[in-house]
Amino acid sequence: MNSFEIRLDPFRAMVLTNAPIEVLGEGFRWLEGPVWFADHDCLYVSDIPNDRVLRWTQDGGVSVFRRPSGFANGHARDREGRLIGCSHQNRCITRLELDGTLTVLASHYRGKRLNSPNDIVCKSDGSIWFSDPPYGINTDYEGGKQASELPPSLYRLDGVTGALSVVADDFNGPNGLAFSPDERLLYVAETGHQFDPAASQYIRRFNVSADGRLSGGDRFYKVHPGFADGFRLDEDGNIWSSAGDGVHCISPQGELLGKILTGRVVSNVAFGGRNRSRLFICASQQLLAIYTNVRGCIRP
Ligand code: MG
Repeated sequence: MNSFEIRLDPFRAMVLTNAPIEVLGEGFRWLEGPVWFADHDCLYVSDIPNDRVLRWTQDGGVSVFRRPSGFANGHARDREGRLIGCSHQNRCITRLELDGTLTVLASHYRGKRLNSPNDIVCKSDGSIWFSDPPYGINTDYEGGKQASELPPSLYRLDGVTGALSVVADDFNGPNGLAFSPDERLLYVAETGHQFDPAASQYIRRFNVSADGRLSGGDRFYKVHPGFADGFRLDEDGNIWSSAGDGVHCISPQGELLGKILTGRVVSNVAFGGRNRSRLFICASQQLLAIYTNVRGCIRP
């Protein structure tokens, strides 16, 4: 029997109490960056300390897709169907072209190297948004100890000009990010200094203007226990966030609706499968999935 925690009534209709949490794979070191490719019917996910990107299919299970991966972390898919990724070790944003070659989209800002891009999303106007904390260059385990050259910031890469701009720089460790279904809001995790558990750890919410500028940025929600490393939204705007005890579902009003309890720390999630109603869960050393009664936001 699954462990759900119902906090508010609407959550009862959002989960399926007879759908099991399935273990799709295990024995990994630390999973993050899941992204669903509907037309390939597969999930890509990073196993960061093993320096590889994995591919999962229902019939074939888990296989190694790309190794070395430059200690890849977050992934997204652009409007042309290409895999966009973050590289800790190479301190850059990459695009895997349809012919299999890898293009570096951004590695420097004003002549200085990025830290270790962590998580990434694509917007419908073709722009690419990503966070750049130093987590991947603080340790050899997740990329390699290197000196930081830039403050931790949130960036926007213009889809037409390729210009890179800072959209927010008042962050103590920007991490996961996701747009609301109408793209008027941007949620960003702030996970603080990785060696200081008392540091600020919140989901912040920004207003997004039509020309791609941010305003607001107030603390929207604090996940507890643990923190929000990454999250995805369903088509009703609810936030399905990683947490220390599983996945927390938070309403657009900032109420905790309920939890899927996994018994282990969750880092990132992604909706996928038929109708985008299956939630893939990066749960430390395991890849999990559970069918839900909601559908993921069309643009993750
Ligand atoms: Mg992350």
